Amino acid sequence: MRQVYLDNNSTTPVDERVLEAMLPFYKEGFGNASSVHHWGRDSKMALEESREKVASIIGADPSEIYFTSGGTESDNISVIGTAWYYEKKRNHLITSAIEHHAVLSSVQFLAKRGFQADYLGVDNEGFVSPQELRGKITDKTSLVSIMHANNETGTIQNIQELASIAKEHGAVFHTDAVQTAGKVKVNVDELGVDLLSMSGHKIYGPKGTGVVYIRKGNKITPLSYGGHHEKKRRAGTENVPGIVGFATALELAESIRETEHKRLALLADLFIDGIMTKIPNVYLNGPRDNEKRVPSTVNLSFEFIEGESIILSLDMKGVAVASGSACTSGSLSASHVLTAMHVPVELAQGSIRFSMGRFTTKEDIEYTINALPEIVERLRSMSPLYQKSS
Ligand code: PLP
Repeated sequence: MRQVYLDNNSTTPVDERVLEAMLPFYKEGFGNASSVHHWGRDSKMALEESREKVASIIGADPSEIYFTSGGTESDNISVIGTAWYYEKKRNHLITSAIEHHAVLSSVQFLAKRGFQADYLGVDNEGFVSPQELRGKITDKTSLVSIMHANNETGTIQNIQELASIAKEHGAVFHTDAVQTAGKVKVNVDELGVDLLSMSGHKIYGPKGTGVVYIRKGNKITPLSYGGHHEKKRRAGTENVPGIVGFATALELAESIRETEHKRLALLADLFIDGIMTKIPNVYLNGPRDNEKRVPSTVNLSFEFIEGESIILSLDMKGVAVASGSACTSGSLSASHVLTAMHVPVELAQGSIRFSMGRFTTKEDIEYTINALPEIVERLRSMSPLYQKSS
C-alpha cells in the first residue's frame, strides 16, 4: 500500500543531508563548546558558524541568535522573559486567540499571576485586525505576540503592520515563525519584529532544536540559570550536533524555498480543486490565495462527519493527516483556531489538516484525492446529521 505523509506541520523527517552534517559532532567532534582544549574549540567554531548561517538567512546579526530546545522554549523565553523584565513598568500583554499553545499557555500562566492579558480575535480567514490591536494596546502593554503563520490553517498575518503598531506604543513585538521559517520569506527587519521563534523539526532538522531571535538592545529575564551559555540568556551545554543540524536544515530550506513554494502551491491547487469537485459540502478554512496562506497547509471541513473518523479511515489507506494541531489531538473538542475563525462547531469537528512537504509528490496528492470520496461517502451514510439534511 502507498504511504502518504501529509502531516508535515506536525513534524518532518530529518533530511539525509542534515543528518550527514550532524554525525561528526556525535562522533569525533563531541567536545563541549565551553572547553578550552581543541575538542572544545572545534565545537565552539561549529556553534558560531551555525549562528552566522542562521543570522544571515533571517537578516539578523549573529549576536542576536540564541539556540534553544525548540519552538516551545523560544516562545516561552519571548513571552515570559519579556513580561517578567517589564513587570514593574508595564504589565499588559496582547496576543491572538489562534496562537499555538506555547504562546497561549505562557500568557495564561502570566495572567494567573497578576498580568493583564488581551486576546485579539480573527476574521473568517484567520486574520488579526490591526484596528483591534490599536484599540487594545496601551502604554502599559509590554508585549504583543502574534504568530507569523498559523499551524492549523496556514494563514499568514500582516506582521509588518502589527509590529509597527506595537512599536508606536513602545511595546515589544514577538512573532512565532515556526510554520514560516524556510517556507516563506522571514526577514526580521522587513517584518519589524523584536523577537522571533523557529523550530528545527518543522524544517527537516532534528527534534528538540530551535532558535529565538532577540533584537539587539531588547531585554528579557532569562528562564534558565546555570552557566554563561548563550550570553547568560539560555543556560545549559549547547546541543552542538542539533545546532549544526538546525542551521543546515534552515540553509537547505532557504536554498530551495522559492521553487518549493511554487511546487507546493500547484499541489495545493490540484488538491483543493480535486476535492471540491469530487466531494460536496467541503469548505476550506483559511484564505484560498496561496500567497496569503502557507500553501502546503490545506485545512478542510467535511460537513456532517467527524474529523477523527476521517483520520482513521485515511490511516487505513496509508495516508497520515491531522485534525487541528497534534498537541491537542486525542481530545474531541473543536479546535480553538477554527472556533476563533467563527467556523461552526460541527464543521470545526469535521476538519482535517493536510500538510504537504518536501517529499510530497503529485502522485501522493492524486492518491489522496482518489481515496477521500469513498471514505466521506461511507461516513456520511452513517451520519444521522447527513440523513436529516438530505
Ligand atoms: N509554534 C507553532 C506555530 C507550532 O506549530 C509548534 C509546533 O507544532 C510550536 C510552536 C512548538 O514547537 P516545538 O515542537 O519545536 O516545541
